[in-house]
Amino acid sequence: MSGYYQETVLDVRHWTNTLFSFTTTRNPSFRYENGQFAMMGIEVEGKPLVRAYSMVSPNYDEALEWFSIKVPDGPLTSRLQDIQVGDPVLVSKKPVGTLIIDNLRPGRRLYLLSTGTGLAPFMSIIRDPDTYERFEKIVLVHGCRFVAELAYADRITKELPQDEYLGEMIREKLIYYPTVTREPFEHRGRVTDLITGGRLFDDIDLPPLNADNDRVMLCGNPDLLADMKPILEERGFSEGSNNHPAEYIIEKAFVER
Ligand SMILES: Cc1cc2nc3c(=O)[nH]c(=O)nc-3n(C[C@H](O)[C@H](O)[C@H](O)COP(=O)(O)OP(=O)(O)OC[C@H]3O[C@@H](n4cnc5c(N)ncnc54)[C@H](O)[C@@H]3O)c2cc1C
Repeated sequence: MSGYYQETVLDVRHWTNTLFSFTTTRNPSFRYENGQFAMMGIEVEGKPLVRAYSMVSPNYDEALEWFSIKVPDGPLTSRLQDIQVGDPVLVSKKPVGTLIIDNLRPGRRLYLLSTGTGLAPFMSIIRDPDTYERFEKIVLVHGCRFVAELAYADRITKELPQDEYLGEMIREKLIYYPTVTREPFEHRGRVTDLITGGRLFDDIDLPPLNADNDRVMLCGNPDLLADMKPILEERGFSEGSNNHPAEYIIEKAFVER
């Protein structure tokens, strides 16, 4: 299977009946920027069945971590959700993607806006020491329907602040803002409404989005991306891409078919 590394599943965790995550071995030659994605999947009838997946693990980790949806009739995830420790997984040799800090102009605050599995690339970005060197505050927003879908909440709020190397930076600079739409919770509502209505900024005690000081990364469902673009552009943000840094950048968390 040229073009792919064959890795081995080390650990599997099912968060809900629609979400799971797992870790795999990592070929030492597989190098990536935090925020990038690769094609990942399994071999079916002698052929690779792969999809785009963001790496959850930061690029200095020995293992790779993946956070996945379970689509009942999805060609890949209807099978992938059954993987067990010891199973083989394919990972493309060339990671790609635009959600990297170098694609943003320098700024004071970094907003990481995600829904669902769109959290995945931000899990690596919030564990990159460079993120904390470049920004005074990092605001991680994760929108889901239900509280149980707020995967990684304990890792973000309990483990990372105690991390031997990153803990101090995380305690000082990272603001985690989970929000749900379909049941009672501390923060409620759609990410876009929390931004346009100003609730997010009141809650975290920061000024509303401003293209001079703020930088934004977006990874989420197609509605989040489509709705946020005009909100940002009306406020003077322009979209960056590889080798063209600007005030905001976007990656699709999945493609509607
Ligand atoms: C740049 C990029 C990065 C991605 N990173 C991830 C990731 O880290 N984790 C992940 O689970 N998926 C990710 N995806 C989506 C992933 O590539 C697949 O679509 C997903 O694994 C489902 O594969 P499938 O073959 O089972 O179904 P597909 O035929 O690929 O999808 C079937 C349908 O399921 C829905 N769907 C697909 N993926 C999602 C999702 N993540 N959340 C909600 N609905 C979805 C869509 O409506 C889609 O039309 C990413 C997609 C892109 C473009």
